[in-house]
Amino acid sequence: MTSDNETIRALQEALKHSPDNLPLLRHLAGLLMQAGDFETAEQTYRQALALQPDEADLKIRLAEAFYHQEKHSAALVILEELADSEPPLAKVLVMFARVKLAVNDKEEANRIYQEAKKLDPGISVHELEIDTNQHDQASVDEDEPNRFLKSDKGLPVEDQNDFANLGRPGISFKDVGGMEELKEEIRLKIIHPMQHPDLYRTYGKPIGGGILLYGPPGCGKTYLARATAGEVDAVFITIGIHDILDLYIGESEKKLHNLFETARHNTPCVLFFDEVDALGAKRADMRHSAGRSLINQFLAEFDGIGNDNEGILIIGATNAPWHLDPAFKRPGRFDRTLFVPPPDQKAREKILRLSLGTKPTEEISYLSLSKPTEQFSGADLKAVVDIAVEHRLREAIRQGKPGKITTDDLQQAACKVKPTTLEWLATARNYCIYSNEGGQYDDLKDYLKLQ
Ligand code: ATP
Repeated sequence: MTSDNETIRALQEALKHSPDNLPLLRHLAGLLMQAGDFETAEQTYRQALALQPDEADLKIRLAEAFYHQEKHSAALVILEELADSEPPLAKVLVMFARVKLAVNDKEEANRIYQEAKKLDPGISVHELEIDTNQHDQASVDEDEPNRFLKSDKGLPVEDQNDFANLGRPGISFKDVGGMEELKEEIRLKIIHPMQHPDLYRTYGKPIGGGILLYGPPGCGKTYLARATAGEVDAVFITIGIHDILDLYIGESEKKLHNLFETARHNTPCVLFFDEVDALGAKRADMRHSAGRSLINQFLAEFDGIGNDNEGILIIGATNAPWHLDPAFKRPGRFDRTLFVPPPDQKAREKILRLSLGTKPTEEISYLSLSKPTEQFSGADLKAVVDIAVEHRLREAIRQGKPGKITTDDLQQAACKVKPTTLEWLATARNYCIYSNEGGQYDDLKDYLKLQ
């Protein structure tokens, strides 16, 4: 990413003047890892370790840099030493298991991974992501009621998909503020074809395929996908691609097949893949890109080869559509790409109203909050409400009586929050200018008001 490259260059420059600055080295190394420059990351971690030779976290990172360059023996030397400490860190064991898997020692990899799970049941390969990663996993969406279903056709859903969430979303398009054009596009592109397949066939319009939602983090891609399921009273199945790429990599294909099977047994349903770029990314672009066979499995399932995908709406979400393998965008797959922008004025009002919920408020002038919250994501807007609530609480304690949240409280809170979408939009702008083949980012281009 260009903005990252600029930061990397700036940090490298700063380090020339202050080569012993550990926080700088650490930050630089993290960015280099994220940019896929593992060799320079390795050198940077070595420099950091020369200053802080005993720090376990730096050693794990160095091992990770080795791992990505397929310097497995070097990684193993570090990890064996770290795994010997009492008790070992779960994340050390996960990394250790990954390297064992890479050298084809599957049995040992599984044993070590189980040990890691015992130490920390919540751990996954995901834990090894570099701190700068902003992805939230769809599976930890707090709004999701997480009601697990038993398939009415007898498939033991939970057993086969411990990594997926199934449920009825309990929201529909009416709960999604604004985004009218997007809702209409979704109706036209996937809902109507599913509801009226014969009509579509009569007019020779293709049925099937999925849509890819892309946009800055926290701006409603997951929410919109859930609402789509609610709109057609369908089961919503959500899965983070990183969960499929979890350690049992040899089993990922099976997991993926089971997931599609579960969907086929629970129609109508929306099958939602978050972080889909991780599956289709080129190796150099991502840390956790999938092997070719997993990609092929995904494409085969998507195409419904030997199976029937009728009644399944497939929605993918990504913050980085430019990393997605073009094979995913062919006809019948994610052949419609829709930009989910930062919430518009109506959406912002809805999010603020939802976040304020039943808290005591005066009459709020949402219109006057529109300008100060421009380009705020859903998560940013929730932060605004949090700050306003904290302020009111402090006042209540000071005055000894509770007061109501006012428009002014929210306006002041908005001044304290910086929209998190800006960085994404700056990066996206470059892709829009330089890589908009076939007009795939035209809606983004319109949003950014580019010629
Ligand atoms: P990420 O890329 O980080 O996965 P996302 O784009 O999937 O993020 P969501 O998790 O769907 O973002 O949105 C964050 C929250 O913002 C949602 O839980 C929802 O409460 C709120 N939100 C976003 N857009 C809207 C909207 N149009 N109407 C109502 N609520 C919204």
